[in-house]
Amino acid sequence: MSQPSPPAFGTAFTTHMVTARYRDGVWSEPRLQPTAPLELHPGTHALHYGSTCFEGMKAFASPSGEVRIFRLQDHVARMRRSAEIVCLPDPGSDLLEGMITTLVAASHEQVPQSPGALYLRPVMLGADPEIGGATAASKSALLFVVACPVGDYFRGGQRPLRVLLGEGLERSTRGFGSAKSGGNYASALRLQVAAKEKYAADQVLFCPDGIVQEAGAANFIAIRGDEIVTRGLDSSFLDGMTRRSVLELAPSLGFRVTERDLTVDELVSWLPDCEAALTGTAATIAAIGSFVYRERELQVGDGRMGPHTARLRSALTDIQYGRKPDTLGWLTGVESAVGTVG
Ligand SMILES: *Cc1c(COP(=O)(O)O)cnc(C)c1O
Repeated sequence: MSQPSPPAFGTAFTTHMVTARYRDGVWSEPRLQPTAPLELHPGTHALHYGSTCFEGMKAFASPSGEVRIFRLQDHVARMRRSAEIVCLPDPGSDLLEGMITTLVAASHEQVPQSPGALYLRPVMLGADPEIGGATAASKSALLFVVACPVGDYFRGGQRPLRVLLGEGLERSTRGFGSAKSGGNYASALRLQVAAKEKYAADQVLFCPDGIVQEAGAANFIAIRGDEIVTRGLDSSFLDGMTRRSVLELAPSLGFRVTERDLTVDELVSWLPDCEAALTGTAATIAAIGSFVYRERELQVGDGRMGPHTARLRSALTDIQYGRKPDTLGWLTGVESAVGTVG
């Protein structure tokens, strides 16, 4: 496993992907095949009506060369919930877990060492080749898993994020916001782009009704003293695995966890004496250095990653990379199948 450092996040793919199709009520046998463009009928349901969902998880290489997937079963369960929300067929856990582990097994030699990882992206889309189904579920589907070797998300150092406090801005809706689906990204994109142009903000923190919710692709936590505050789960935003992992690790590190509504006013009243961060698989835990709030810039702490955020981040990545024991049973080992792949 000695390869040059991987290119920018999500731009390079492994040599292989895995695909399966759903038709007439049954799933086909998954196929491991070279990564190549998909052939889609121009009438494909997902292209017109957004019937898609996806997942994002990582496989990590331990110092001794083992390759392990982080929270595989939980990611698979979440993809099945997303599929249900967008009316796509249930792949079942065995098929989906099997496809993901098959790809990881075939890609063993393409898993970067720490601080890199293999980013895994299962995607499902409604495949009916007809555009009359605007208000009907697609009866057929395409499921595929692709993978990207990724390097250090913070190559060149951890630059704390500048985040726009999006008072009254909506990323999605109740009921749909908890689906990991492209439609939610599309609906938030215009606001993200505008925040970047107008305020040089890296991210928008959506705060519908004045209550802090989440960023476009990451959850939010605030840390004040020994307390971690984050919004309780509901159907308006994504149940992030990194968020969950941080909350599950926190008590053993001496933190109290409070899941509750946090208003923008309350968060602003804490500044600068707290820490704030975004959590998500790609970056793990990214510190927020400042907020843009009503045309002003408000610093968080001293503007750099605070000690609590750093401690949570190390605790999590130590488990992922196998530097500390996996006491919470989060990792699924995958044996190499390199050499058996045609
Ligand atoms: C994927 C995603 C997250 C982060 O979830 P993780 O499981 O931690 O990667 C947060 N918000 C949205 C909208 C997402 O799509």
